[in-house]
Amino acid sequence: MKTYRLARRLAQLEPSATAAMNARVQQLRAEGVKVISFSVGEPDFNTPEPIKAAGIDALNKNLTHYTPAGGIVELRKAIAARVNADQGLTYTANQICVTTGAKEGLYLAFQALCDEGDEAIIPAPYWVSYIEQAKLAGATPITPMTTDATGFRLTPEQLREALTPRTKIVVLNSPSNPTGAVYSAAELRALADVLQDSEAIIITDEIYDAISYVEYARWLQVAPEFADRTLIVNGASKAYAMTGWRVGYVAGPLPIVTAIKDILSHTSTHTASISQYAALVAYTPNAELDQTVRDMAAAFLKRRDLILGLLAEIPGITCAVPDGAFYVFPNITGLLNRPLKNGTVCTTSDELNNYLLDQAHIACVGGESFGAPGYIRFSYATSEADIIEGVRRFRESVS
Ligand code: PMP
Ligand code: GLU
Repeated sequence: MKTYRLARRLAQLEPSATAAMNARVQQLRAEGVKVISFSVGEPDFNTPEPIKAAGIDALNKNLTHYTPAGGIVELRKAIAARVNADQGLTYTANQICVTTGAKEGLYLAFQALCDEGDEAIIPAPYWVSYIEQAKLAGATPITPMTTDATGFRLTPEQLREALTPRTKIVVLNSPSNPTGAVYSAAELRALADVLQDSEAIIITDEIYDAISYVEYARWLQVAPEFADRTLIVNGASKAYAMTGWRVGYVAGPLPIVTAIKDILSHTSTHTASISQYAALVAYTPNAELDQTVRDMAAAFLKRRDLILGLLAEIPGITCAVPDGAFYVFPNITGLLNRPLKNGTVCTTSDELNNYLLDQAHIACVGGESFGAPGYIRFSYATSEADIIEGVRRFRESVS
């Protein structure tokens, strides 16, 4: 095949492992293989009816034209009101930029802020895209490693050690993908105290805020003095089961949000108009919809307990109890370097992951992609029947 000289900045780009595994699952299913997927992290619930109806209504009303870069003002106003109620702040609609998923919001934040030589502190285990987005913006990811011993939460000491005069960004993600760790208010405060004397900008990715099984503390509630150097990233994908609609947002200081909108004005301009009108319903106060969101979170909690109970019965793995999101991140080192069912020996979690897909037809994501070899990520945003059958297959293939 002809080779092409691609842009130099792509030399180190790793494609998204979560997206790649999802594509592999779709391919296998198309070939007739009955794969149980714990891979891609997306709610299996359908988008709530009132949101879908708003999307259909937008189509019927021909609201299918360009919108302002960064979103229609009604949606930005509704999001500002939500953010202000959640965080106790006073953002205006101009401080909100609607993006094509939170993923694009994060990408644009790195693009708007980073220069070559800047450092971005991204605690590991981390969601796959932060690292690549930092690198694409020229920044160097600094990845202090948290472990199950500290509940996968960054300690103030680790943060202090990672900070340098080059630190441009610190990423906080609570509840966390892939670990499900949730920071308490006191833990966030301790991190804020460390950051006090730095000039770092904090990106707080709160995309799993609706799925917290413990009291949820927000960074800016705890450290409001950081509002002039914090970007809040969130979106409708997880809370409202709207992954395919691609609605996320960034909220923050006007100059940074304006810079993000300016980049957007030369790239996608805005997420689909129909999606924006649907999201307007999600972000408009509605007690019934709030209950639907709580019901989905309650279902995830039940599934978390189910999968934790089933995994606990498998010798060779240990699993921290996640306090939020819909992932479990068991330590599988006890399954490495010894013969599994058919004599196969896996030496890494990625190898185990491939083995599980081939042998047991279950799809997970190896810890390597999250900067945490020795672990494997299961997304349990799937049916209880699939959780039971999938973990049975897992157990059988590793015993
Ligand atoms: N942040 C985290 C931590 C995530 O897990 C995801 C899900 N892929 C995103 C951001 C992006 O979500 P989306 O682009 O669907 O809004
Ligand atoms: N956040 C999800 C995951 O980690 C969706 C896939 C992606 O966007 O990376 O699986």
